[in-house]
Amino acid sequence: MSMNSKGRQTSPDALAVSGHKTVSGNRGLAQAEKLIFEIGTPRRTGVDFPALKGAKSRLGGRLGGMERTEEIGLPGLSEPETMRHYVRLSQKNYAIDLGVYPLGSCTMKHNPRINEKMARLPGFADVHPLQPRGTVQGALELIDELADWICKLTGMPAVAMSPKAGAHGELCGMMAIRAALDARFAKEGGADNKRRVLVPESAHGTNPATAVQCGFTIDSIPATDDGRVDMDALKAKLGDDVAGIMLTNPNTCGLFERDIIEIADLIHGVGGYFYCDGANFNALVGRVRPGDLGIDAMHLNLHKTFSTPHGGGGPGSGPTVLSAALAAYAPVPYVVREQGKYKLIEDAHGTDSFGRMTAFHGQMGMFVRALSYMLSHGADGLKQATEDAVLNANYVQASLSEDMSPAFGGICMHEALFNDDFLKGTGVETLDFAKAMIDEGYHPMTMYFPLVVHGAMLIEPTESESKAELDRFIDVMKGLAKRAKSASDNKDGADFFKAAPIYAPLRRLDETRAARKPVLRWREDPSA
Ligand SMILES: *Cc1c(COP(=O)(O)O)cnc(C)c1O
Repeated sequence: MSMNSKGRQTSPDALAVSGHKTVSGNRGLAQAEKLIFEIGTPRRTGVDFPALKGAKSRLGGRLGGMERTEEIGLPGLSEPETMRHYVRLSQKNYAIDLGVYPLGSCTMKHNPRINEKMARLPGFADVHPLQPRGTVQGALELIDELADWICKLTGMPAVAMSPKAGAHGELCGMMAIRAALDARFAKEGGADNKRRVLVPESAHGTNPATAVQCGFTIDSIPATDDGRVDMDALKAKLGDDVAGIMLTNPNTCGLFERDIIEIADLIHGVGGYFYCDGANFNALVGRVRPGDLGIDAMHLNLHKTFSTPHGGGGPGSGPTVLSAALAAYAPVPYVVREQGKYKLIEDAHGTDSFGRMTAFHGQMGMFVRALSYMLSHGADGLKQATEDAVLNANYVQASLSEDMSPAFGGICMHEALFNDDFLKGTGVETLDFAKAMIDEGYHPMTMYFPLVVHGAMLIEPTESESKAELDRFIDVMKGLAKRAKSASDNKDGADFFKAAPIYAPLRRLDETRAARKPVLRWREDPSA
């Protein structure tokens, strides 16, 4: 076994590659673990309940003869077995607390622990949405204060706090736009034809989906070679029937749409509204106020920009800021302060509000975390977080620009985008490159998105990575890029990438089959 100068083993690789298998299936500290259905039994439990007395009801009794007569069949484990089961599973996963997560804020960035502490305060965590208003004044004040921060940071006059995700915020904004257009038609008459929404190719996929959901048709605008809205194409598409535009800024290529003010003027010029997807506001906070750009509606993803854990599908929160032209159409409920008391306005009747989007007032836990993030950073800290996020992405892009191939020249925002030009002729593809990153201890970056870039690799380091961590990541990416290029001189070279990952608990899975034919029910293997 070879060792490095610090006495650490340098190449366990050879063992793994030659098919060295342990007796147990464990790999050192990585324990093989079966499904809970395979290791638990219905008769075991971690708690000691007294036997139930008088639970039997006669046929036709209180349960109407519906009592369970057989075992429920849920697997039980003792407390230590339960702990071990879930700890072993958690160790098979990659975590933001383990290392760089190049998917960035869109999936998970560092969540300061102070946010979690605040969200668990009983006055926030245990309130019920139907509690008398007088007993939840602090919670309402928090929503109001957060709304105030959001309005100040965006330079917008109003915000709807209830949308529960980015896409839900888009729905809120487009419903407000639809309500404003309908009101204009009811008042001024004319042709009721404002149904076409322009959506640049560089917009997020949820944008066209939202517009269609609100009864609009989509007209796509191509991107230029430098990854931005093609202004000539945009101008050619303008017309009386344009209801508005849905633009993502920074766009999905991680670039600032530099013609944004002209775009706003052009859309307003044909009587349309400007929806801006603000999910990537973390590249702008403290530097740019969307209200100064002529935007009419924009959602924020509290769960991206202002941290809050959300990987794996939730929870989210998508407050949507609205311009003066749209504010009156905002959904209920909203918080107002009257004579020192906070009230919830819940009734939309007799107002221009388009109605209600959610059962209650929004995602309280996310509100607490976001305000905690804002207050602990302060205005100067929020600005610095933005600057660090953009600096880190540009550091990655610049450091890798010779070994990999940046998709566009120039400065990026919070994400560095590469195409697969540097892999041409090597036999290695974006997917293989990403799988090799797993063996190096990194979660892969976003792959094959945005679609406008061939073999895309989109890296968002976020503001919270130190230079030392970024340098380690960059060294790995450079090393892999060099190895891929040398693969073209060496006919077995690409095999290294095609075989990856070899150190993951599971290797290459048939992801398409898993998505198309998911196995949703465990059955005991009859052959076992
Ligand atoms: C994440 C994201 C969305 C959607 O947000 P959800 O909270 O996942 O619904 C929309 N647009 C952009 C640019 C995003 O990054």
